[in-house]
Amino acid sequence: LVSRKTRKEDTVILLPGDVVVGGSASVMVAGPCSIESEQQTRAVAAALQKAGVRVMRGGAFKPRTSPYDFQGLGMDGLRILREAADEYGLLTISEIVDPAHIEPSLDYVDIIQIGARNMQNFELLKAAGEVNKPVLLKRGLAATMEEFLHAAEYIMSRGNTQVMLIERGIRTYEKWTRNTLDISAVPILKQESHLPVLVDVTHSTGRKDILIPCAKAALAAGADGIMVEVHPDPATALSDAAQQLNFDEFNTFFDEVKASGLYR
Ligand code: PEP
Ligand code: MN
Repeated sequence: LVSRKTRKEDTVILLPGDVVVGGSASVMVAGPCSIESEQQTRAVAAALQKAGVRVMRGGAFKPRTSPYDFQGLGMDGLRILREAADEYGLLTISEIVDPAHIEPSLDYVDIIQIGARNMQNFELLKAAGEVNKPVLLKRGLAATMEEFLHAAEYIMSRGNTQVMLIERGIRTYEKWTRNTLDISAVPILKQESHLPVLVDVTHSTGRKDILIPCAKAALAAGADGIMVEVHPDPATALSDAAQQLNFDEFNTFFDEVKASGLYR
């Protein structure tokens, strides 16, 4: 079902408010790593609305490497995200990690995110495949293209055809970036599949100083959209403090990406 062989035309995902993912328009998905408070979330929502962003991300269920790190606000976080997004006319995307949370999340998210660590959580993929809600599937930490597309197939095989893929870097020996951004994944996925392909420049690089060229490269390679983390005061963030952009940095980033002519 994911294959270009079975469907020639690009899949275009229609979101509320006439936001589309795939096709002729690029999409910018931005927001904090974690939903931390109402105040923090509303501040981000206001900044994104001002910048012309339509889709806000924010993690409520955080799959942290250490059990002692901030685990997210859970369903309260989803509620905070929804309220802030509604106030500023934005759409929401948040990671769900438990199949049992898929149904309850439907009132709060416009897009269900499945994280890199859960790309092969097959029960989660099946549960996401059974609802009528777009899903953004992240590439696993060390997933091959074949494994990534099979994971998407799990979702689609259960009936949900609204699937988007996102390259978020893979683990290599390189230490100067958090992960290695696999730009070749973009044209390969676009060629092999009809699904929209995004690139998460934040988690793939883990550093703020190379986001503009990486986003341009992603778009030049054919990506349908970009994901980036934005926080009112990154230094105090409860997760991923080193890699989130503040509002000024985000505005410069988005302006430069648009000015490149690659953002449609
Ligand atoms: C995220 O986007 O919040 C996240 C945890 O990313 P990943 O699953 O790609 O590590
Ligand atoms: Mn993060």
